[in-house]
Amino acid sequence: MPMFDYVRAKSVAEAVELLADTQCVSRPLAGGTDVLVQVRHTPPTFQRLVDVSRIPEMKIIERQGDEICVGAAVTYTEIIESALLRETATCLVEASRLVGGPAIANAGTLGGNVANGAACADGVPPLVCLDALAHVRNSAGARAVPVADLLSGPHETMLQRGDLITHFTFPVMPDGARSTFIKLGRRNAQAISRLNVAAAGALSSEGRVIFARVVPGSALPRLRRFVEVENMLIGERPSEALFETAGAEASRAMVAVTGRRWSTEYKEIALQGLVARALRQVFTVEN
Ligand SMILES: Cc1cc2nc3c(=O)[nH]c(=O)nc-3n(C[C@H](O)[C@H](O)[C@H](O)COP(=O)(O)OP(=O)(O)OC[C@H]3O[C@@H](n4cnc5c(N)ncnc54)[C@H](O)[C@@H]3O)c2cc1C
Repeated sequence: MPMFDYVRAKSVAEAVELLADTQCVSRPLAGGTDVLVQVRHTPPTFQRLVDVSRIPEMKIIERQGDEICVGAAVTYTEIIESALLRETATCLVEASRLVGGPAIANAGTLGGNVANGAACADGVPPLVCLDALAHVRNSAGARAVPVADLLSGPHETMLQRGDLITHFTFPVMPDGARSTFIKLGRRNAQAISRLNVAAAGALSSEGRVIFARVVPGSALPRLRRFVEVENMLIGERPSEALFETAGAEASRAMVAVTGRRWSTEYKEIALQGLVARALRQVFTVEN
């Protein structure tokens, strides 16, 4: 195991100061389930890890007016156990239930999942589906960035040296809205996503779609909402035919970006099915 220093920060201010230290290249450490695995294979590009996992400001889960606030150091287990998130962010809770096993869920954090920038990250599609902002602090100040804009490509983010994600916020969804998350892995337990989908939606009192979000993960080099699919749902009455057409449109939109490659034959059919299934769960149709 390579050598590096370790320090535990007690507050966001202290963490930001340590990360800004020009004498010592530092990186945040939360659950360590990505970074400590990586340093076993690749020599670290840092001299010190700044542990942010116990900073109280980064552990909150609360409603603030019309927004939900989730600290970046909140673990998957804490997400699963939150009654507020079960009520307002089902897709995030369902994704958290599918991350790794209990040990990973107890240690791994939402902030670490986003900052690590993996295309297969399960926490990210739900955050994009919820239209979440990442709140980032460094020694120059604070900024809020849409989570989708923070990711620039596989294992690449727009985070700079010294940046710390402190928390995420997202608006409370419209009344009656539901959300879901579905993951396709190579096996049932402890599987990394080959594809996943976060989806959300709401119906008008006449039973037509008035709110729709569809966010496939591991489908594009840069994760985003599939607005083309969302737009074709708006104003329609949920039906099997609509879900299947929306699934086909999602596959078409994916291939339009990625082109055809060795995995397309599989992913095209799989994504179509996942999107249709996610929409079926969100807009349960009464026959
Ligand atoms: C066995 C195993 C199974 C796994 N299964 C899954 C899975 O099913 N789905 C999935 O998505 N992931 C999975 N992972 C990956 C990992 O658990 C997640 O990505 C987890 O959310 C990472 O969070 P962490 O707190 O452990 O991050 P860390 O390892 O502590 O940090 C990861 C990166 O983010 C940076 N960072 C951490 N916190 C912040 C912050 N607040 N601000 C700025 N930068 C920060 C670190 O410097 C580092 O670069 C698995 C990992 C293992 C080992």
